[in-house]
Amino acid sequence: MTPGLDTIPAAETDVLVLGGGIAGHRAAVAARQRGMSVSLAYLAKGASPYIIGCNAPFGHVDPRDGPEVYYEDMIRGGYGLNDKRLVRVLATQATAAVDELRSIGVPFAAENGRLLQRHLSGNTYPRSVYVPEGTGRAILDHLARQCRDLGIETLSGWKAVSLLRDGEEVVGALLAQPRDSRFLAVRARAVVLALGGIGRIYEDSTYPADVASDAYALAFDAGARLIDMEFVQFEPVVTVWPEACRGMEMPTAMMGDGATLLNAAGERFMLRHNPEHGEKRIEKAKLSLIIQREIDEGRGLADGSVLFDTTQVPIDRLESYVTHVRRLRSAGLEPTKEGPHVRPAAHSEMGGVAIDDQGWSGVPGLYAGGETAGGLHGASRLAGNGGSDTIVSGALAGRGAATTQSTLAGRNWQRIIDAAAEKLRAARQQSGATAPDEIKQKVRAIMPRAAGLWRRGEDLEQAMRELDLLQDVTATGLATPDWTQSIKALEARNMVLTARLVVMGALARCESRGAHQRIDWPGQDDERWLHHIAFRRGSAGEVVAEELPIQ
Ligand SMILES: Cc1cc2nc3c(=O)[nH]c(=O)nc-3n(C[C@H](O)[C@H](O)[C@H](O)COP(=O)(O)OP(=O)(O)OC[C@H]3O[C@@H](n4cnc5c(N)ncnc54)[C@H](O)[C@@H]3O)c2cc1C
Repeated sequence: MTPGLDTIPAAETDVLVLGGGIAGHRAAVAARQRGMSVSLAYLAKGASPYIIGCNAPFGHVDPRDGPEVYYEDMIRGGYGLNDKRLVRVLATQATAAVDELRSIGVPFAAENGRLLQRHLSGNTYPRSVYVPEGTGRAILDHLARQCRDLGIETLSGWKAVSLLRDGEEVVGALLAQPRDSRFLAVRARAVVLALGGIGRIYEDSTYPADVASDAYALAFDAGARLIDMEFVQFEPVVTVWPEACRGMEMPTAMMGDGATLLNAAGERFMLRHNPEHGEKRIEKAKLSLIIQREIDEGRGLADGSVLFDTTQVPIDRLESYVTHVRRLRSAGLEPTKEGPHVRPAAHSEMGGVAIDDQGWSGVPGLYAGGETAGGLHGASRLAGNGGSDTIVSGALAGRGAATTQSTLAGRNWQRIIDAAAEKLRAARQQSGATAPDEIKQKVRAIMPRAAGLWRRGEDLEQAMRELDLLQDVTATGLATPDWTQSIKALEARNMVLTARLVVMGALARCESRGAHQRIDWPGQDDERWLHHIAFRRGSAGEVVAEELPIQ
């Protein structure tokens, strides 16, 4: 046996939550509050700290808002592909979830006891609640404190490399410390996957480095169904200049406050496409497509971008985006006088693990929440709904996991842990020449060419061929001189698998809907395509595609 995995220490818990973003923390709290012992394992904090706001239809700014309008906005914004059970849960539970966060001290901006709510694109009314100094960070800090107070065991800096499985049942996870190659098997009665989204499978991406496509690969390997993977959201306005702010997402909420988009000729081009509202009341997917086309057709700035004009935003509103304004100023740009240059970048995944309204994946013992889960957003996510999703579906998955009837006793743990270690052991034994990072770079180059904002059958077919070759290399041809590289090899394999699922879905869906736009199949075809494309693992490990009806 390869050294390093010979004797793996083991720990035990009722519920193991994988992922330390907001969804993971919410799941951990929810399961603990139902009397479960809980372990929360994660690498870092994921995309959650960057959340600027969360939608909740309090109607504090406009009393016409409420769960029904919010529900309708989501269905319209998702082009009808949403799982209505999950939409109903979010529409009816978002305000209570925010109130719960307020009760543990999250300082959402408010005046005279009423929450301030920003108007984000695609939403009928202003409904995004926020913390001026950073919403995601504030929520996470308070949830982390709550986890400590509740006695939740936190395993920070640990990477989940595979799930422990007993037959069809998921019974824990094998964790690794990538820096010093330590391993730990956590046995659990139920597991919540809250590992975020697709990570950096596109060259231009806003994902932080700790999110690496593992969620979908782990779920796939365990037998879960993945739906709607072709729907990748591109954040429309990601900074490319000033250089020091490259990759920083400008808040779409700021456009609700008066920021505008200008092309090289100084034209406010959004008025051509959305004459009544300009940059407002348009969902992100559409906004990204319009900006990309403006650039592709040669009307952008010289660096392949458009201008995000911050100079017309009232000063008090502008200063409320504390982090953004601070970062622009420290890069030498005064946002009251000049705006940054922006263009779309891959940002979040609408698809993911198919779950029911208890957060259950259909695989015994496996639950999913946050960006890892699919179905809620349909073909396009409303701006601000990533945050709301984490606080509601995270708790949903935690509560679901707490209903487990599974037991830890009477299992052959040696065999279960050995089987989970096998993939890693096989990766370590490779003696190929290709570094795992080379595979990752190749995936990042393939994806924007074929599965970017505008897609075409022949490009997708070509991408599929290239990804299949990369898959072959990850199976045997990687250089893995140590455990760190072996873990990276698994990561590269997970990225290739995830990229293949995105491309397969995009190739199969011969229509254009929301974030999936086929140049060769323009137009939405409800008769043929108003259903999910689902993927699951076949008996020989192959990808099996299915059509799933919308719930
Ligand atoms: C820059 C940026 C800005 C955003 N702004 C907004 C916004 O304003 N409003 C909004 O609604 N949405 C926004 N989003 C989207 C939103 O951040 C995500 O949808 C949301 O944070 C997902 O939360 P999550 O808890 O599901 O996953 P994440 O917060 O991404 O957390 C994933 C967790 O899993 C861990 N992890 C991943 N793989 C492994 C592994 N193998 N083993 C162990 N741990 C692992 C990570 O370390 C992390 O702890 C933004 C995203 C980005 C990138």
